[in-house]
Amino acid sequence: MYIDGEWTDTIEKIDVVNPATNEKFATVPNGGTQEAIKAVDAAHEAFKNWSKLTAAERGDYLMKWHQLIDQAKDEIGALMTKEQGKPLQEAIGEVNYANSFISWYAEEGKRIYGETIPASDSKKRILVQKQPVGVIAAITPWNFPAAMITRKVAPALAAGCTAVIKPAELTPLTALKIVELAEQAGIPKGVINIVTGDAKAIGEAWMKDGRVRKISFTGSTEVGKLLMRQAADTVKKVSLELGGHAPFIVTENANIEKAVQGLIASKYRNAGQTCVCANRIYVHGAIIDAFVDAFTKAVAEFKVGNGLEEGVNIGPLIDERAVNKVVAQLKDATEKGAKVAIGGNKVEDLKGFFIEPTVLVDVTDDMLCMNEETFGPLAPIATFQTVEEVIERANNTPYGLAAYVFSENISEAVQISEGLEYGIVGLNDGLPSVAQAPFGGYKQSGLGREGGHYGIEEYLEVKYISIGLS
Ligand code: ADP
Repeated sequence: MYIDGEWTDTIEKIDVVNPATNEKFATVPNGGTQEAIKAVDAAHEAFKNWSKLTAAERGDYLMKWHQLIDQAKDEIGALMTKEQGKPLQEAIGEVNYANSFISWYAEEGKRIYGETIPASDSKKRILVQKQPVGVIAAITPWNFPAAMITRKVAPALAAGCTAVIKPAELTPLTALKIVELAEQAGIPKGVINIVTGDAKAIGEAWMKDGRVRKISFTGSTEVGKLLMRQAADTVKKVSLELGGHAPFIVTENANIEKAVQGLIASKYRNAGQTCVCANRIYVHGAIIDAFVDAFTKAVAEFKVGNGLEEGVNIGPLIDERAVNKVVAQLKDATEKGAKVAIGGNKVEDLKGFFIEPTVLVDVTDDMLCMNEETFGPLAPIATFQTVEEVIERANNTPYGLAAYVFSENISEAVQISEGLEYGIVGLNDGLPSVAQAPFGGYKQSGLGREGGHYGIEEYLEVKYISIGLS
């Protein structure tokens, strides 16, 4: 753990397991309440100076950090593959994506503009300034061990905030490496602190602490709701990126080849373990056979295995629980009449947590996979007949993070995109996430936005100074 510029350890440790081999290969400290409080002490102290630097000075630190991450991207990628499972090229891709938040916010920090407003009294002036909120807590998940940290910490630091971070217990090594590079970049002690260990104890300590002015969380809806309740006592600012249940709509006017490629990218990235992965696929009845045929052929090309091996493009799931969830959804769907077009089995000859990329057809809305997030390589395909019907079915969920529409008909594409109650719509695009765009959800998928100029606002307070002139 890195607290107040010092690397610290605990006697008790947490194991880190490689999901491709089910072998323990590292340990990290098992921190708790005490370490969490020390981290806030450090961040609170460091805020005094960090917040007073100019945006350009903070930007220089961030760009140095960016450079070091770029130089180490192969090493970080390999570490990520080992603890998280995603194929090496994908892991290096995540490092680049993670790093894009740092370079983007290094610049955006310079554009935290205020405002002057015409006063209603000639002897007064109205000035509006933006100021950093203070210490922020970032609690992150295991599916993007690098990007979920930089997407929070880069805008926070650029805004002048200091940070305490708790990475997921399943993937702490990538996070620790990234913080080590922040130290090497010369980011002053206390500005970034990272505590590994007991999630509940660390979370509670930060939520109770009035000095922590903001919580930014990515993870399950259940934990997000808990943190929101806990944050109420000290009225913290709250940003939540929670579960998704993304509909993927292919209309009769779609370019089938483009839609297949979009679905491959959206569904199978990280073996289906992202909150924006296509989770329910609705294909127009007129093109269902052609679509399923082309999609199944594309899925047959995947090579499943240890992500460090050449040519592998689907890694393991994160743990056994994740595999069991996919198996349960598969069983439920086939019992209710769905048919397996390809895949459908665990990969028993590999020691890790593998399941074949699977396509289900004849899927209906009463099946589990159409009502809860899968977080695995299962693609359930249902049909629809009218645009109105598919919009209604797509919106019939408490979630509202990402949705996808494939159509070459502009009027239909706009009608569906605008009708979807989702924060992100990929229109003829299976991979919409980028640093400069706002990422976030409607409904129970979350609060606030990350990325772009929206993302830095989350770390700023608005101050109105009313100036009386003599
Ligand atoms: P997932 O089901 O995807 O693992 P979680 O919401 O459990 O998602 O985990 C996301 C992050 O939240 C992880 O860093 C985890 O350690 C943390 N976490 C889990 N439970 C709590 C809690 N009670 N308080 C604070 N953080 C928690």
